[in-house]
Amino acid sequence: MKYVSTRSEQSILASEAVLKGIASDGGLFVPEVFPSIDLKSMEDKSYQDICYQVMHLFFDEFSKEELSGYIQKAYSKFKDAKVTPTISHDSYHFLELFHGPTLAFKDVALSMLPYLMTGSARIQDVQDEIVVLTATSGDTGKAALEGFSDVEGTQVVVFYPENGVSTIQKKQMTTQKGDNVHVVAIDGNFDDAQNGVKTIFNDGSFNELLHKKNHVLSSANSINIGRLVPQIVYYFVSYVQAVKDRQLSMGDPINFVVPTGNFGNILAGYYAKQMGLPVHKLICASNENNVLYDFFTTGTYDKNRPFKLTSSPSMDILISSNFERLLYHVSNGDTQFIRQAMDDLVAEGKYQVSESMKKKIDMDFYGGYCSEAETAKTIQNIYNKYGYVLDPHTAVAAKVYEDYKSETGDETYSVVLSTASPFKFTKSVYEAIFGPSEKDDISLISALAEETGLKIPEDLLQMCNSEDLHTTLCFKDDMKACVEHVLS
Ligand SMILES: *Cc1c(COP(=O)(O)O)cnc(C)c1O
Repeated sequence: MKYVSTRSEQSILASEAVLKGIASDGGLFVPEVFPSIDLKSMEDKSYQDICYQVMHLFFDEFSKEELSGYIQKAYSKFKDAKVTPTISHDSYHFLELFHGPTLAFKDVALSMLPYLMTGSARIQDVQDEIVVLTATSGDTGKAALEGFSDVEGTQVVVFYPENGVSTIQKKQMTTQKGDNVHVVAIDGNFDDAQNGVKTIFNDGSFNELLHKKNHVLSSANSINIGRLVPQIVYYFVSYVQAVKDRQLSMGDPINFVVPTGNFGNILAGYYAKQMGLPVHKLICASNENNVLYDFFTTGTYDKNRPFKLTSSPSMDILISSNFERLLYHVSNGDTQFIRQAMDDLVAEGKYQVSESMKKKIDMDFYGGYCSEAETAKTIQNIYNKYGYVLDPHTAVAAKVYEDYKSETGDETYSVVLSTASPFKFTKSVYEAIFGPSEKDDISLISALAEETGLKIPEDLLQMCNSEDLHTTLCFKDDMKACVEHVLS
């Protein structure tokens, strides 16, 4: 399988695309064609088998043994035998993507990426040790640390804003085990961390210096195809489970409702549809940062608005990077249009798509959003009705699904993607159900468990009882020196 950039005619192998992450013209890599899949052949198969069936089509440079081995290792860390089970309550079906080591859906992809990266380095004959450098506002950093921890041939360095992540997120990172992991707080906000990392990536002489010490920088961010492709898998897995549970007959349509930030998760659902999964609608759920909702309503992508901090922080995003890939597909690969649109986005903060593109998008997508008050209310309602506890991101999607149903009358079997364990956002969840509390996130973990009867996830318990291993604080202007120091 070859990949092309969304902004020019560059065409490269999967192994190169995984190592590069982003194209040199600034574009994202997309598959040259969508492979098709025989859905029927997936019936009764395990997560791992379906994962192989999907992934080998996109990563055909790996042998069957290699790729199967990666899959076994990556998903052995998940706490549910099904890896991503679908849990039903009446007409709600929740695809739980949070049974990995950090309790959020990013584990699905970040458990695979390290193997795809080291495997790609071997294919490309890269001798240097891969140094994954990441700035995080919380979730990605921890998932990258877990994914790369003790993976041979890699080091991982994560910078986080000292006062810009939640208590639980901070504790998750500072207690991270592994000989190759480095966690550093900086005296700035997330933008400072991200700018620092970008500067390091673009510093030619620093990269040369690292190369002399047998290090090469790489990125684990969500535009890497090595993160996108593993996310296609669970759309098929959920469908196959619905058939097995006799909720659907093979070939029936299905909807997916996706709590969306960077547009990676829902784009993977679009890819599944292009490969032959009978998806009727992909329902894109936003929080109060509703740029995408406005786009689906008007056809104009406009990020000019205040940025809001919400109870679903992983969706607090004004520029959904992966949206560029959708534009590529619905414009039939019109790279000139995309370059112009992305330039407009930088210069004016907005761009518009043609009527025909908008029409195509409307056939596959529906956009909705959910306010902060509605998010809390939804957590409470679902708990009161079913005793089932949603995290705030999933609650946004559940509410948008309700709105969708009452607006369209569409009764198609619909799956809501559940992207985080409620224990990861304990305070918001606890207060939504039981009212205000003086206690902080960490103290509320056991309170939430006691009052709802839920079991505290093992990894979280372990975290609470672990010592902080990473206490380095770095000035935001010293990040380069800090990287050099932790690698020596
Ligand atoms: C990252 C994340 C999202 C958003 O997913 P995108 O692929 O960025 O759209 C939603 N929920 C949770 C919990 C996340 O961590």
